[in-house]
Amino acid sequence: MIAASAAEPQPRWQSLWREAITDAGALLEQLGLTCLARQLPADDAGFPLRVPRGFAARMRKGDPRDPLLLQVLPQLLERTARPGDLLDPVGDVAARAATGVIHKYRGRALLIASGACAVHCRYCFRRHFPYADETAAAGHWQGALDWLRAHPEIDELILSGGDPLSLSTAKLAELTDALRALPQLRRLRIHTRLPVVLPERVDGELCRWLAALPWPVALVLHANHANELDAAVAAACARLRAAGAHLLNQSVLLRHVNDDAAILAALSARLFAVGVLPYYLHQLDRVRGAGHFAVGDARALALAAELRARLPGYLLPRLVREEPGAPSKTALCTP
Ligand SMILES: *Cc1c(COP(=O)(O)O)cnc(C)c1O
Ligand code: SF4
Repeated sequence: MIAASAAEPQPRWQSLWREAITDAGALLEQLGLTCLARQLPADDAGFPLRVPRGFAARMRKGDPRDPLLLQVLPQLLERTARPGDLLDPVGDVAARAATGVIHKYRGRALLIASGACAVHCRYCFRRHFPYADETAAAGHWQGALDWLRAHPEIDELILSGGDPLSLSTAKLAELTDALRALPQLRRLRIHTRLPVVLPERVDGELCRWLAALPWPVALVLHANHANELDAAVAAACARLRAAGAHLLNQSVLLRHVNDDAAILAALSARLFAVGVLPYYLHQLDRVRGAGHFAVGDARALALAAELRARLPGYLLPRLVREEPGAPSKTALCTP
């Protein structure tokens, strides 16, 4: 929950956050798809539907296959267990270095700055991880700061979550003020889906905070389909760039959402048009409940080859998967 003092008016994005659609029936009604309501699972498996109204407005009315709808709508297929599916498919529990700190790769550490997200993506590998209990914000970041001081080889900190921009800008500033005391930091990275799903989050206060940071900032967005990137998102990206951030995007390869070379090419083109470069295209993690989104490796590699034949090199995302214990994300290659 986001608390606000009575004296200060709340930023608009926080009201929009609270006004998100959390009822699947209401979302389907808005889209003229009440016929799908009978196919909804009876309970939400502990991961309720959540979608900001602005994001829902980008979905096509009357289309049960809309690629944005498919990312957020609970499905009965989530109950179909696949052998090999895991609750913690990327080994985050084992890589926990301190409260809210996950360390896997040399020179970089990931800070779980917040457990909250504005949107709930059904394919999310974090759906079973106790992120709410694991955020570094609890205890005023002390555990994370102590760990970083003891690890001067970490020169890039990644704010992640959940979504780190779900924190108030004041809370973010409290963290980055404390980080200034660490001479080792050369880069700050922010992994966030908020500028895509709730572009109002990129307000003047956030941009002033970003522009005043002492480190170069890489801001890695998360969009899976060009339809997610409307004019409001384009404007938010322009504000982020004006504040000095380098904008990148990571996508997840998702069956029926973007497992098509023309769709992936359109996503790369649209990203570039709004000032963002493609970074990673992730093979889905084997998280329980998301098997219906999986695309086989042979198909993924064929898509990557088709994309290479269509696009300039700088618009090609790297096709990778995350393997527990590996020293980096792993590039996919022919099995
Ligand atoms: C993905 C990830 C990173 C970032 O990897 P890059 O290849 O630098 O983008 C860092 N730490 C953890 C724990 C990760 O999962
Ligand atoms: S925004 Fe990211 S962390 Fe949050 S539910 Fe979606 S994929 Fe998961």
